[in-house]
Amino acid sequence: MHRFTKIVITLGPASSEPAVLARLVAAGVDVVRLNFSHGTADDHRKRVEMLRHAAQTAGRAVGIMADLQGPKIRVGKFKGDKVELKAHQAFVLDAECKLGDAEHVGLDYPELVDDVSPGDVLLFNDGRLVMDIERIEGRKIYCRVRHDGELSNNKGINKQGGGLTAPALTPKDMEDIKTAASLNVDFVAVSFPKSGSDMHLARDLLHAAGSSALLIAKIERVEAIANLEDILHATDGVMVARGDLAVEVGDAAVPALQKRIIRVSREMNKFVITATQMMESMISSPVPTRAEVSDVANAVLDGTDAVMLSAETAAGQYPVETVEAMARICIEAEKSSEVSLERHFLDRVFTRIDQSIAMAALFTAYHLKVKAIAALTESGSTALWMSRLNCDVPIYALTTSVRTRYKVSVFKGVTPLLIRYTGHDRDELLFAAEEELIRAGAVELGDLIVLTIGEPIGTSGGTNSLKIVRVGEHRTAG
Ligand code: PEP
Repeated sequence: MHRFTKIVITLGPASSEPAVLARLVAAGVDVVRLNFSHGTADDHRKRVEMLRHAAQTAGRAVGIMADLQGPKIRVGKFKGDKVELKAHQAFVLDAECKLGDAEHVGLDYPELVDDVSPGDVLLFNDGRLVMDIERIEGRKIYCRVRHDGELSNNKGINKQGGGLTAPALTPKDMEDIKTAASLNVDFVAVSFPKSGSDMHLARDLLHAAGSSALLIAKIERVEAIANLEDILHATDGVMVARGDLAVEVGDAAVPALQKRIIRVSREMNKFVITATQMMESMISSPVPTRAEVSDVANAVLDGTDAVMLSAETAAGQYPVETVEAMARICIEAEKSSEVSLERHFLDRVFTRIDQSIAMAALFTAYHLKVKAIAALTESGSTALWMSRLNCDVPIYALTTSVRTRYKVSVFKGVTPLLIRYTGHDRDELLFAAEEELIRAGAVELGDLIVLTIGEPIGTSGGTNSLKIVRVGEHRTAG
């Protein structure tokens, strides 16, 4: 069964054995995420090597994303690693405290004291523990705990409503960008960006490190919602990072924001990944809850390019079963996805030749009910534009560029295929493209397809031709 929605998984101890990775790739993983909040450069390097080997053995293009930690503010460590806090007790955040206990704990960001005031609400461990700030004395923040709860070493802190001034790229992120470039990753996710300028800085650092990876802005701050369009102009894609977003804006606001972020991103020709707690119960259960099934299906119906797994595959007991269940839910939801082609064409103007050809290909493919759209693309842009609208026809991005093959792995409905043709002859290139489509099982001789190509072959310049082809009709070769 063809699946349009892509699956991103997070690698961790539960998914770092070669045999498990091979099963995950076979189950349909499209992109793997390296979480730079955990692990060393060496851990990431080993995982990348294992993944590339598993993907190559399976003959699949699996993209790799480096997810930078960003300025996540965390408590320090406790004597005995954790404490049990009681409702209404006093608790102090004090950057000077070396080892915490049930009365106070240290902070990895001493400047937090400058960003908060009495009356502010702090959320710990993704909102599982809440404290109200009562007063600030010197560099100490005096809080009152709302409900009984556990607090353990290095748990994250968010301020409800946003307003933390920490810059999006920390010195650790800047080092990690160099590591990501040396690992040749395909995507770099920036945590907690507040504006387009955070993304421009990340892009400059990435280029300086010699990488042309696509950038992903994680939308998880109140400020990022206010500056969404500015961020979208500066990024290639976004992640709806629902964990931190929910603690900053309040959990009830997230579903509507998810819909808006997905809609605006697609309108601005950016890809979008929906993340966090999608199949959370499968960390320890072999089946998802009904609510999780609905959550994944609704993200698909919202039009997300990809759905993402975090702890489910990094540390869960059922990583392969989770991917299999997610794939099954996506395929079922896609059967009732809205095909929005005609409505979309009415209110948009396409001024670029390559973009117009991409749109014409979609329209033609939909009305002729062809088997596939074949986009011969070097940069992947044609496939990106095509995948912004749902025309219910699989898109194959046929490219001679190994890099592009991985980059398009996250675009909804786009299957990357590599063509090993380097000449300049149009008919030979089309023949190689057909061969690859047949080899991949996408089409058979006699199937009708829509094909886009840039001519003359071998010169730089965008897609400018559209062909409707019956597979095999012009063959002279056997
Ligand atoms: C999130 O907050 O939802 C998220 C994806 O970010 P991280 O897992 O890095 O905290």
